Order: sequence, then structure tokens, then C-alpha cells
Amino acid sequence: MITCKSPREIVYMKKAGEIVALAHKAAKDSINPGLSTLDLDAICEKTIRDAGGIPSFKGLYGFPNACCISVNNVLVHGIPSSDQILKEGDIVSVDIGACYHGYHGDSAWSYAVGKISDEAALLLEVTKQSLYEGLKKAKAGNRLTDISHAIETHVHKFGFSIPQDYAGHGIGTSVHEDPTVPNFGKPNKGVLLKEGMCLAIEPMVHFGKAQTRVLADEWTVVTKDKSLAAHFEHSIVITKDGCEILTKLQDKEDSNNGETRRY
Ligand code: MG
Ligand code: MG
Repeated sequence: MITCKSPREIVYMKKAGEIVALAHKAAKDSINPGLSTLDLDAICEKTIRDAGGIPSFKGLYGFPNACCISVNNVLVHGIPSSDQILKEGDIVSVDIGACYHGYHGDSAWSYAVGKISDEAALLLEVTKQSLYEGLKKAKAGNRLTDISHAIETHVHKFGFSIPQDYAGHGIGTSVHEDPTVPNFGKPNKGVLLKEGMCLAIEPMVHFGKAQTRVLADEWTVVTKDKSLAAHFEHSIVITKDGCEILTKLQDKEDSNNGETRRY
């Protein structure tokens, strides 16, 4: 069932989203060669709890940590580990969820560790921009796959690929709600977008082929051809004339990632 959130609920969604944004800021400020992904997870979890939130992912479907931290060829659902030390040239995707008064925010961002290759930098830029291309289509009166199609069109322009097994989703009192938001597909299909719908839009992009594989830990999703992968995600609310990003620092138009808030 797809729900439209009331203005009262949006207040809580914004607070949850802001806590996620604070954790991303802490992650961004901490990511450096030599940091373990377990320590990065702890930094994010402390930030979430200090701000009055609860990490949404800890225990969700049995996930052991606060954040999914996915390095290089890991697409999503990487488990933080004291044995995994970030090194110069890595890219690290940090997927963070926080719950505030029963409402969730969910946002992922891929970060460069020190200086990265031109190929890796392009993958990050294209994946991030594909999120914004999707956001431009997230408005009342459009249909769901207008978002999907915009993401796919941008990614394919650069010859990168989109894994088909993973998608965005509705978000609210559960982290994962209806509808599923694919990152590919023909436009003008699926549900009509309405004011108050909250969606987590999250392009996941491979440098190489689209196929994925899940490792023996039953969580870690890697690219089958071992190519690099990137992941950018915002939780948003559909408004009358566009959408508003929820997973941002709410007191600034231009926060941690130099974005404008309204699309
Ligand atoms: Mg996420
Ligand atoms: Mg998500």
C-alpha cells in the first residue's frame, strides 16, 4: 500500500532525514586512508544516537551494523569490519538509515578515499547526477517510471550499467514501503505520483557489466565482473511542483554536498 504522509508526518520525516544527513557529514569528515569500515560505522551510529535517532538498519532483516559500507566492487550491503581498512584510491559507499519518532530517513553516498582514478571519479559523478536527473521527474502528476527512465537514460549515456535486482522504495514508518522504484524502464508507467508520497530514490551503477553476486555471508553484493560500483540515494517527499529532499541538513539550502534542496 502506498501512503501519502500528512504535514505532521513530514515534520518527523524531515527530522529523521536530517539525522541521516548529520551522519553523512560525520562520515565524509572521517573518511581517510587508514580508517576501518567498522570505525566508520561507529562514527555514524554515534552521530545518529547523539541526535536522538535510532539506526534503522541495525537488526533490519538481521543486518548486524548501523550502516552498510561497501568498498570498490561491492555494490551494496557491505558489512563493516575491523579488518577492512580504507586505502588511498578506494571508493566507499555508505548507506545510512535513521529512525526518529517512528519515521525513517535513508540515504547513501559514495565517497572518494584520497585521490581516486579518473574512471572512478567519472562513475561517482555520473551516478550522483543520475540521482538528480531522477529527482527532476519526481513531481505530482508524473508517473513512477518517469524517475526510473531519467536515471537509466543518464547512466547509459556514459556506457555504465544498472543492476536490475536492486531498486529504490517508498519510505515512512517502515524503511521499505511500497512502491518499488526501479532504476530503469520505459517512462509514463506505474503509480501516479501524489503530494506527500515519500520515496527513497537510489541509483546503483556498475562501471562494467550489470550482473551481481551475493557473497557467502549472504549480505555482501558484489559486481560479478569485479568492476567498481557506486550508489547515491536520497529520501524525498513529492510536492505540488516538484520534490523536496528530506535527507539533508534542513537549516541550509546548500549543505554537505552542495545541492539545492528543491527540485
Ligand atoms: Mg539506503
Ligand atoms: Mg534505500
